[in-house]
Parts: sequence; structure tokens; C-alpha cells
Amino acid sequence: MQETTTRYELESALLQVAGNYAWTWDTRARELFRRIPAMNGEAALHPAERIKLLDEDDWAGLIADSEFTELAREAQAKIPQPLPLRDEETVAYFSPEFGVSEMLPQYSGGLGVLAGDHLKAASDLRIPLLGVGLFYRDGFFRQALEAGHQRERYETNNPRFLALTATPARVELELADRIVTARVWQANVGTTRLFLLDTDLEINDERGRRVSDRLYSGDREHRMRQELLMGVGGIRAIRQLGYEPAKFHLNEGHAGFLALELLAEEVAGGLSLQEAVAKIRQRIVFTTHTPVPAGIDRFAPELMRKYLGVWADRFSVDMDELLQLGILPGSDDHFNMAAFCIRVAGRCNGVSRLHGEVSRSMFQDVPGGPEITSVTNGVHARTWVTPQLQEAFEDKLGPEWYLPDPATWAKVDDISNEEIRSAMRQGSDRMIQMADRQIGEQTGLDPNILTVGFARRFATYKRADLLLRDRDRLLELINDPDRPIQFVFAGKAHPADEPGKAILRNVVEFANDPAARGRFVFVPGYNMAVSRAMYAGCNVWLNNPIRPREASGTSGEKAALNGVLNFSILDGWWDECFDGENGWAIPSSAAEDSGQRDWEEAHSLYDILATEIAPLYYGDGGENPSDEWLAKVRHNWKTLGPFVTASRMLQEYAERIYQIPPSR
Ligand SMILES: *Cc1c(COP(=O)(O)O)cnc(C)c1O
Repeated sequence: MQETTTRYELESALLQVAGNYAWTWDTRARELFRRIPAMNGEAALHPAERIKLLDEDDWAGLIADSEFTELAREAQAKIPQPLPLRDEETVAYFSPEFGVSEMLPQYSGGLGVLAGDHLKAASDLRIPLLGVGLFYRDGFFRQALEAGHQRERYETNNPRFLALTATPARVELELADRIVTARVWQANVGTTRLFLLDTDLEINDERGRRVSDRLYSGDREHRMRQELLMGVGGIRAIRQLGYEPAKFHLNEGHAGFLALELLAEEVAGGLSLQEAVAKIRQRIVFTTHTPVPAGIDRFAPELMRKYLGVWADRFSVDMDELLQLGILPGSDDHFNMAAFCIRVAGRCNGVSRLHGEVSRSMFQDVPGGPEITSVTNGVHARTWVTPQLQEAFEDKLGPEWYLPDPATWAKVDDISNEEIRSAMRQGSDRMIQMADRQIGEQTGLDPNILTVGFARRFATYKRADLLLRDRDRLLELINDPDRPIQFVFAGKAHPADEPGKAILRNVVEFANDPAARGRFVFVPGYNMAVSRAMYAGCNVWLNNPIRPREASGTSGEKAALNGVLNFSILDGWWDECFDGENGWAIPSSAAEDSGQRDWEEAHSLYDILATEIAPLYYGDGGENPSDEWLAKVRHNWKTLGPFVTASRMLQEYAERIYQIPPSR
């Protein structure tokens, strides 16, 4: 390109770069798109859309900018190509949500973000894996605040502006009394492909079109239709596209109905239903994510009869025999998707060591299932670490710093205190800008004050309001004249979760209390961009679920990679990773009364903040954070860096769970 760049060449280079989500974790490509004039003040547009909105003057400016055209050329040369896939080693990864980027709003929280990171790490390691899910036309809700209440707004997504390409596949699916047709979009995520089924087609009737309308919304019947589409429709879709994967990985049980299609084939080949179950197990692996029975997807027998009667006929069994496959012993007559997935899976895992234990006891009575093991969740480092720190890591640890090698992370000693402080200061400035923008006014947050962050879904077990149990004590910490502490909170409550919404109102109300203003801030509009800014902008990452209900948690892992120290209940990943020095543990109380338990845990939290965390951060009055704090940050990197990455997680899945013979 260089001097002879034409508008056509530049536009096509930019569209190609935007056409693979790999640009979202490439710091140079991110810089490229940052330089394109933003077409809307909130700047959340996908570049594929932004490029289409440029006018002649914009183009003239870009073409004349040789640094820009050079960046474009560099990014274009680096676009990853989809990995060639051989059936005998391919894994199809099914998930109800994929958090690839805030620009592809097809996720609600941790489960989806994990799925996005899974694809990205598979891409980094060249593991032959493709993703399968639904394309929700209205995505998940966007959050705003109105008089202290959460307001939920849905926006219609145009796939053409989200770097999705149409595939030739057209899937037909019987949903009780009608046939619904779905088309299939493809997103490129590095070297992996993500296929998303979409029923919003003219040939479907109104109800058929709405099957893939929104994520986690609607009644049980709607959920049943979505799960049949995801599972049965999903497997039909990838087969139409020419794939016959060796393994099917179920990220939670929502797509478990894909087993129906495999079972029907075996039964048609002459096996009994029980023999068919034994046979398909070699191809299915199941990851369970919730240690709470109430969190599992379940369907009433009537609903099962309505939608699965056709399958019982295909298996030549009566409905009761089919229903038995989803019974959780000791529970009721509902069809439990986790129990079903365990019965049809050859391998099953929880998502942290502790969660593996909890899952084993939760499902010990499901007959015929595999032994439940665990693979602890990890995060995609290049997605979550700030560009400035990535530069330091590349420089001092090497270009493949994000691969799971302990020797790599020992080299963080070569990063100077000045470099770390400067990266932290930049992270903190960016977070404050983000918070001011989201709120629409100056928050008053101070980059020199010890900052504690909390951002996640407001599910009740996560106790976003634990800190508020003793407000007077909290205000003492906030307004301490020598060692003040400020708090930044964000998160969404599911629209139907009234207790979760009440917690959110509580937190917002406290943030608006004049006594806390500017030192306790709630940031609305929680999404991956908000969370990413927070993981790098705080000093301490707070996590205080009711143990052991947090199966893994991943936000603390993202914070740790950014040098933010964890302060957490010993639950999920932290239970196995805390070594006494790489952060702090909040002791869990043994009190039986939940009010008493919360009070005790909250007071442990205040005490540790006041007597350990704040003194270490402020040191004896020199620079913030103190040299001793930075030593702890380095220790955090050395102990956690090699473990918390999704590349370590993918290696474990490949070796222990997928067990694809290494033929490459
Ligand atoms: C990482 C992440 C989560 C998961 O947070 P937990 O603390 O593990 O619950 C949820 N939402 C978003 C947007 C994230 O990036």
C-alpha cells in the first residue's frame, strides 16, 4: 500500500481486519480502529459498521495518514485464517452464550465470557474447535439507571454490522406442532469459527421467528424451544456445513438435546435406547457450572411430552423411559438437564477443584454417569490485560508471555516499579474516564486513593451488598483521613430476579448517599468494556459469594493478570490458588443464621481492609502504591500468571477431557 493506497484498498483492508474478531485482542489493530473517526459519541459501534459510515472527507484524511495506512497494512497481513478441520480431531463446543466482545452482545455474564475465552485460547493453541450457539436478534438487555432502579432496554442487532457472514446452511426443526427454519451465521474468532443459529426468517410464522429473539428471557416453553434449536438444530447445522466432529462439548446443559439426534441415529441403526446411550457417550463431554440445584435447567413432564413425544417415537420407547434419562435422584419428576447430560456424557467436569468436589456429591446418585473431575476456568490474557502491561510483558517475558509457562512469569522481576506504577496509573485514569462517561458526570473518583472494585452479575449468592451490612463502619473506611478507600461497583441483575434487583437498588442508594458520594460509585451499563476497564483500574478486586456457590469465578483472574490483588472468600478458583501471600482471603463464617454469617463475614472484610490492605498500599507515606505492595503484585503474577490463563485451561481440556489423539 503505502503512498499508493486507494480508498478501495484501504476500505477493503479495514473490512477484512474487522471481519475476524482476532482484532479485539491485538493491541495494534485496536489502535488502528481507535483512529477511525467515531460515528457516535458512545463509540461502541463495531468497526464493520463504523467503516460504512465514513464520508469522503474522512477517507481523504485516513488515506493521507501514512501511520494509519501502515497500521492497516500490518493488521491485514496478520489476519488469522480459519484452521483446516479434520473430523477425527474436531471438537464442537456448544454454549447458550458467547462473550467474544462487547460489540457482539450475545452474552449475559461469566458463562458467556468463558465461552468466548475458550474459543480464543483454542485459536492461540491451534486446537481444532468450532463454537455453536444461537444468534439472539435482541441479544441480552442493556442496563441503565432510572431513579435508582435498573432499566432494561433491548436493541435489535443487525448481523451484517457485526462481522457475521451468512452460511448456506438452512436447518429445519420440529417444535411440537410446527416446523421452524433457522439460518446460520458465522463469526471468525482467530483461527476458530463460531456458528450462530437464527430463526428470524420470513418463512417462519411470528412465533417461529421469535425462537432466537433474546438470551435468557421468556417462559419455560420458550426456553425449551431455544434449547432444542441449540442442540438438535446446532448439530444439524454443522453437519450441513460439512463437519462431523469427534467430540461435542456441552458448556452447561442447555444444548444437551443434541444427544437426541445422535441417539436417534443409533436406534435407527438397530440399537436399543440404552445401548445407544452407552455408544454416544464416547463423543460427549459435559461441563457443569452451578453448585446450586435451583440453578439447573429443568423442564416439567408435560412440556417434555409436548416437545419430545416425537423423539420417544423415534426411539421406539414410551415417554416415561425417555423422561427417566433426566431424573435427578432425590429430586422431583422434572427433567433435569444436568442429570441428562451426565448420563449421555463420557466425561464430565466442574470448573474448579472445590466445585468438582461439590459436583461429585451433588450428582453422586445419578446412575451410569462418568466420574466427575474438574478443570479450573481460565481467562484469555490478551483480551483482558491492558495494552501498556502487554507491552511490558512482551518486552520482559517474551512474545508468548500468555502461554502457561511458570519460567516466563519469573521474569516479572525485570519490570521496574516505575513501569508498574505508570501502567497502574494509566489503568486507573482510564477507568475513571469510563466511569464518568457511563454516569454522564464527574464521579469525583481519585486516582491516588486505594480503590476496591466489584463487578459481576448481581445474582443473590454473590452478595453485592455484603459491604453495606454495617454502613457506619464502611463510611469510616471510606472517609479515613490518612488511608481513605474508594469503591467502584458495576453489575446487572437478571430482569426476573427481584431479590437481585433489590440488592442493586441498595447499592445504588448507598452510592447516592452524600456521605459516600465520590468514594463509592456505581457504574451503570455493565458489559465487557466496563468490566475490562475495571480489572485494570482498581488496586483490589473484591469477591464475596456465599461459599461454595461460586463454581469458579473468573473476574478475579482477569484482575490478577493486570496486577490487581484479589481479596476474596475462599471459593471457586481462589480456594485452590490463594497461597497466603498473593492476595487476601475473607474467612467464611460458620454461623448457621444467614444474617449472622453475613455480619461476621462483612466485619472480617472491614477489618482486613483497615488493618492489612490499606496500610500496605499507603506504606509509610512515600509513593502510592508502596514498594511493598508492588512486591506483592509481582508475587501475584508469578504464582497466578501461569495458572489463570485460558491457554492452561485449553491444554487441560485437550489432554484430559477431549483426549483427541495427537495426529497433527
Ligand atoms: C469476567 C466477567 C464475568 C465473570 O465475573 P465473575 O466474578 O466470575 O462472576 C461476568 N461478566 C463479565 C462482563 C465479565 O467480563
